[in-house]
Amino acid sequence: MYYFDANATTPLHPDAREAWLHASETLWQNPGAPTAPGTRAHAFLEECRQRLLTKFNGTDTSTVVFTSGATEANNAVIASEARRFPGMAAIVSAVEHSSVLEPACWHFGSRLKSLPVDALGVVRLDALEKLLAPGGVALVGVMAVNNETGVIQPLAQVNALAKRYGARLLCDATQWFGKMPARALPSCDYLVGSAHKFGGPKGVGFLAFNACENSIFSAQRGGGQEKGIRAGTENLPGIAAMLAAFDSAENFTATTTKAREAFEEEILCRLPGTLIHGRGTLRVWNTVMLSMPDHGNLRWLKRLERRGFIASTGSACSAASGKLSHVLAAMGCGDALARRALRISALPATTPGDWLALAHALENISRELEADASGTSAHAILPS
Ligand code: PMP
Repeated sequence: MYYFDANATTPLHPDAREAWLHASETLWQNPGAPTAPGTRAHAFLEECRQRLLTKFNGTDTSTVVFTSGATEANNAVIASEARRFPGMAAIVSAVEHSSVLEPACWHFGSRLKSLPVDALGVVRLDALEKLLAPGGVALVGVMAVNNETGVIQPLAQVNALAKRYGARLLCDATQWFGKMPARALPSCDYLVGSAHKFGGPKGVGFLAFNACENSIFSAQRGGGQEKGIRAGTENLPGIAAMLAAFDSAENFTATTTKAREAFEEEILCRLPGTLIHGRGTLRVWNTVMLSMPDHGNLRWLKRLERRGFIASTGSACSAASGKLSHVLAAMGCGDALARRALRISALPATTPGDWLALAHALENISRELEADASGTSAHAILPS
C-alpha cells in the first residue's frame, strides 16, 4: 500500500511501540500514588515533561501539560482565555482546524473575528493589524502549518503583531511536528501538538505554555494531576511513546521538498488543468492539495484506493461529514474546485519513487474516468 494520508494520522513508529510497551510493563503504577513504584512512575513522567520542554527552546514556553491530543489542548486554551478575559475578543485565522474554529465560536460568539488569508492560504498580516488595532483582543489563533494545504504561516510576524497589541498567540502546531524541526518554531504563548501526527499513538498530545500563566490556567478540573492544571490520571505509556516518536521525528532530516516538487511537475505536465493550492508560497515537504481537472474527488479517491493508494479529500474531520473545505473557501476557491480537491500527504518513509507511482496512477485514472464519461470504456460498453 502507498500511504498518502499522513496528515490524517501516521502509523506507530517502532521506537514508540517499544517505549509504550516498556512503560506499560515497568511503570504501570499510578504516578500520583505515594508509593515507591508510584514515585518512580512520577519521576519518569517529569523526565518526559522536561525532555519535551527542551525541544521548544525557541518558543517562550516553560510548562508542558499532557493532554489527550490537540483538540483537547485547543479547547482548553480557548475556554480558559474566554473565562479569564470576559468581554474581550479573539481573532482566529479562517483556515484553522475545526478544533480551534468551533470552540472559538462557542466561547467568544460575536466577539470572534476571522482573520482572512490570501489566495495562497497565507494569513494576511495587514488584516491582522487592522483587527488588533482597536484593542481588546485577548487571543490570536494561527496554526503553524495548514493540515489541508501544507502552507506554513508567518508565525514570527503574527506573534510580533499579537505582542504589540497585548494579545496572546495560540499556535496549533499539530501539523508542524514530524515535518519541521521543533527548534525552528518561533515564539508563541500556547503551543499545541498531537502524537499521532508524528508516529506516536492516538489520544496523546500536549500543550506547552509560559509558566506564569500557571495559576490561572485550567484545562480540566478534578483530581489535581498535572499540578492542578489538567485533572485525570496521566497516560504514561502514551506519553513515553510520544516522546520516543518525537525523538525519531526530530532525527529525520530529509525535509527536502524535492520529491513533492517533482510530483507536482509530473502532475501539471501529465494532467493539464490541475490546480495546486498554495503553490508559490512555503509549504511543508509532505503535503499537496490538488484540484483535479475534472470529476468529483470521491471518484478519484476510490480509484486510487483500488490501485493501493490511500489519499484524502481534505481534513479527515470534514471529509467524513462530506462538507466542502472551509480552507479552500477561505482561499477564494469556488465549490466546483473544492469538489475536485484531493489531499496528498506523505510519510517520512515515502520515496521519490512512491511519489512518481502516484503521479502515474493519477494519469491512468484520468484516462479511465474520461473513457467512462465518453462511454468508451470496456466497463461502459458491457451490457448492464
Ligand atoms: N489541529 C490540526 C491542525 C490537525 O490537523 C488536527 C488533526 N486532524 C487536530 C488539530 C486535532 O488533533 P487530535 O486528533 O489530536 O485531536
